[in-house]
Amino acid sequence: MTITMDKQTDVYSRPNARFGGDGTLEIRASAVGNCRRALWFEATGHRVTNPRSDDSLTMLEAGNALEPVVLRAMDRAGWDIIPTDRDNPRMVSLRLGPTLLVSGHVDAAGVAPIFGNEPSIVEVKTRGPEAYKKWRTLGAERSHPESVWQAAFYTYAAFDQARDVVIATLDTGGRTWDYEVIPAHRVERAFERACARLGELAAHHLVNGPDPYALPERDFTADDWQCKRCPFLNACLPGTAAVEPETEDEIAGDAEPVSDEEARKALHEYEEIQDTIREFEDEKRWVTDVLRAWLKQQGQDKARLEGREKTRTVGMVKSIRYNVNHKRLNALLDPETRADIVTENVSHYLRVS
Ligand code: SF4
Repeated sequence: MTITMDKQTDVYSRPNARFGGDGTLEIRASAVGNCRRALWFEATGHRVTNPRSDDSLTMLEAGNALEPVVLRAMDRAGWDIIPTDRDNPRMVSLRLGPTLLVSGHVDAAGVAPIFGNEPSIVEVKTRGPEAYKKWRTLGAERSHPESVWQAAFYTYAAFDQARDVVIATLDTGGRTWDYEVIPAHRVERAFERACARLGELAAHHLVNGPDPYALPERDFTADDWQCKRCPFLNACLPGTAAVEPETEDEIAGDAEPVSDEEARKALHEYEEIQDTIREFEDEKRWVTDVLRAWLKQQGQDKARLEGREKTRTVGMVKSIRYNVNHKRLNALLDPETRADIVTENVSHYLRVS
């Protein structure tokens, strides 16, 4: 059976990097944060050694398919959204020097509800729950800077100047969405950074011409996710994929080997313990409900009651949680200042689901 891809799929599946007929190196705006060596591999026609798996392609296509859903949600929330016609999207491009071009298709332009006055580029992203949480907490400039670089290129290509950009993101797990506005002066800075990054690739091109064997330096190392997902991994770092340790294996480091049978037994015990904990929690909820009702009848915040071995105090305790509005914080402070205030703390735990 032959499946014909529609026009829209073709438009959005251009290579990340290619040489035009006049020798210009053209980079896709969505790939400006990619490894420059990987871009070079692609532009110079190297064979893909590590193609995407079917599952990963499905994830990618699902993410693309959900982008209009986010735009419609923004529209319902009062944004004035001008979406790109996905069957015939308008290509925007920006020439950076004599031999470098960045091009792409804008997701949408939009004006914020009530206070918005001029259209901004809206860049839509879909993220899994962890990446979504990271984005909301750290802001796009820290969590996914390449998305800001991409939107900055679209902004300069469309308006010829820095403007606020909007990063709208859907959590594919919880199916909620939110947005972040990056102010124009920080868009300008993101644009300069991305230009400096691509400028080095353009300089490599000027010195070497389109030589497939004159490779730029690696931007990442084998431990980085960019390498783990790179279509040219075996060409760049031969043998890495096979020996690459999983995170969980690294944690288990010095542990004794565990057989499948032992692991199964441990899992069964884990399930029994979970059942017992659940029963305890149900009972605990029941007794605390009774005590709360009794305390309310006393008309006091605290009361004494005979326990099995001693008299205990039963009382309501007020606890206050302080929340940080990360969206406002991210809008007010530049990423460097935020990095001093919101720090990352990575821990590992075992999840059985
Ligand atoms: S394997 Fe890593 S360093 Fe090599 S081209 Fe790919 S992303 Fe770049």
